[in-house]
Amino acid sequence: MASQPDCLFCKLVAGDIPATMVRETEQTVAFRDINPQAPTHVLVVPREHYPDVAALAAADAELTATVLSEAAAVADAEGTAERGYRIVFNTGAGAGQTVFHVHAHVLGGRGLGWPPG
Ligand code: 5GP
Ligand code: ZN
Repeated sequence: MASQPDCLFCKLVAGDIPATMVRETEQTVAFRDINPQAPTHVLVVPREHYPDVAALAAADAELTATVLSEAAAVADAEGTAERGYRIVFNTGAGAGQTVFHVHAHVLGGRGLGWPPG
């Protein structure tokens, strides 16, 4: 999907909004969440715009897998893989999604409660 002019993460991918980058690939960008909920809180987004993970998965299985493997690579690079980490896709406003450009939250570096709130 083409980049959307009003989308915060499209602007961030384009470099129009600054971010603390963690990893970049041809298809994805990983950057630190501006309001971290854990010692490691990184967002992984495809450069292409999809509103949520359901739309991404329906449109492009390979890119979906790439976002997941990048999320795992971030968890590894942050040193959270051994202790355990969580990959979250909030999907829909009722689940807490506030930015409608699909993003994986990679959370780790502390104990993570279950079930989530
Ligand atoms: P959601 O609530 O949609 O699952 O997650 C959106 C996330 O984006 C939130 O955790 C929020 O802190 C983060 N966020 C919102 N605006 C910005 C921004 O301008 N820069 C960065 N790095 N993160 C942002
Ligand atoms: Zn976007």
